[in-house]
Amino acid sequence: MANVILLGPPGAGKGTQAKRLEETRGMVQLSTGDMLRAARTSGTELGRRVAAVMERGQLVTDEIVIGLIEERLDLGCPGGFIFDGFPRTLRQADALGALLVRRGKQLDAVIELVVDDEALVGRIVKRADEARAAGQPVRKDDTPEVFEVRLREYYKNTAPLVGYYWAKGDLVQLDGMADMPTVAKDIAKVLDKH
Ligand code: AMP
Repeated sequence: MANVILLGPPGAGKGTQAKRLEETRGMVQLSTGDMLRAARTSGTELGRRVAAVMERGQLVTDEIVIGLIEERLDLGCPGGFIFDGFPRTLRQADALGALLVRRGKQLDAVIELVVDDEALVGRIVKRADEARAAGQPVRKDDTPEVFEVRLREYYKNTAPLVGYYWAKGDLVQLDGMADMPTVAKDIAKVLDKH
């Protein structure tokens, strides 16, 4: 069993790979973005509070997402957790470390999907087009304008985590521009070491 973080900008393929790991390894994906969208859809107080910030592409507060993760960690998962879109700030990273230690768990790897920024906007537009074609809801933040804000937020707040985890010796960098099955294979190799 392994607990891993998938790190990378929006559109890097974290969600796709996390879903694959759920299917192939019985791991559980903890995506704070999915949790926040679910809160919005079900119209909870939390959902109402975060809606505008999410639509602008900015980050919601650390307290909110740390609280969401803490709730899920308590449910446990024998196959291990995949953290997708969390942590996104140094404070969240520190909090996650503490939450895991308190539960006698550890982080086994932080996998950074290294991608080319230019290609990301194209991927996001494609994701929106595919959702529309399949009659599925389209994410309101999957537009080129909001995407720019999300990418800036990534470089300002989240990119420092690359150095943070590298210094801890946890970081593994993979080519996120490879095709989906190749990235999946590369991730599997990392996990098989744990
Ligand atoms: P995602 O699905 O990971 O792209 O997240 C969608 C949006 O949810 C982000 O643009 C943020 O507004 C919010 N969000 C998700 N995860 C976090 C997080 N760990 N910290 C702050 N905001 C988050």
